[in-house]
Amino acid sequence: MTRVGVAGLGRMGAPMAVNLSQAGFSLMLWNRSREKATALADEIGAEVADTPRAVAEGCDIVITMLADDDASRAVHFGEGGLFASTGGSQVFAEMGTLSVEHVRELQASASQRLVIDAPVSGSIDAAGSAQLLIMAGTDAETGEVIRPALEAMSRQIVWLGQPGAAATMKLAVNLMIHSMNQSLSEALALAEANGVEAALAYEVIENSAAAAPMIGYRKPQYLAEADNPVSFALSLARKDLELAVELATATDVALPQTELNLAQLRSAEADGFGERDMAAVLAFLRSHS
Ligand code: NAP
Repeated sequence: MTRVGVAGLGRMGAPMAVNLSQAGFSLMLWNRSREKATALADEIGAEVADTPRAVAEGCDIVITMLADDDASRAVHFGEGGLFASTGGSQVFAEMGTLSVEHVRELQASASQRLVIDAPVSGSIDAAGSAQLLIMAGTDAETGEVIRPALEAMSRQIVWLGQPGAAATMKLAVNLMIHSMNQSLSEALALAEANGVEAALAYEVIENSAAAAPMIGYRKPQYLAEADNPVSFALSLARKDLELAVELATATDVALPQTELNLAQLRSAEADGFGERDMAAVLAFLRSHS
């Protein structure tokens, strides 16, 4: 049986690990805050490792689902990190939303190991129901070794053929998501200020030509953000747009609308909205109306 290591058991990583377990994989777990790993291991019957290195040495493949470049750097290159391993896994899938530069750094430092950028689209509900879209920065033949594990977490895998292409596409998709987050919040603020009740405004929007899947599945956050658990932290949205703008700058692409959206997220974070759901852009707009 293929043994899969999962490092990073946050809002996304934990349900992804549950789906791997339900698909029959034997798991070894690691998380910076160990209590999340032990609680999940008790629930699904997995082993907890003391270090990322132990995960790599004890598994056939390793999946990482970490917040950002710094987290991924610490887990791969730190003392006791994945790349300090001798033997064990030679296949690593980095599934967080990270910079293309960092993903290339991982791939260049990997020696004989295969490192695949494999970020996901879909939020915690899609992670929980194994309905993620996975973008994979390799071809299907090379990725065959990890395909069964990726399939256990997803509804679709798009093989993008080359390293870094998946990290690039994830930033491209997310600049659209965060653009929608901003414009949906503006639409709701405008409706509300002109006497249209939020739930009715939402009913119109979610059935209009402007509807997209995220407008459906994120409805509770927009209508009652404070009453619902954080699904995607606003600070991570800011991180995504910073990465998109950095990539655009490095490759001479103009992203004027994305820069405006990034400025809004930075202002909201400066006003204390960073750890709230990204739908808190609406509350931020209200606070400035
Ligand atoms: P999250 O709940 O904040 O979890 C982040 C994970 O990274 C946790 O396991 C955290 O460990 C770990 N981490 C943070 N800093 C670390 C460090 N310095 N060293 C080691 N581990 C560290 O985030 P998430 O929502 O699961 O998102 C994970 C990634 O997926 C992000 O790149 C995000 O942009 C992307 N993503 C999120 C969604 C979504 O809807 N939430 C959807 C698609 C993609 P601790 O538990 O110890 O804090």
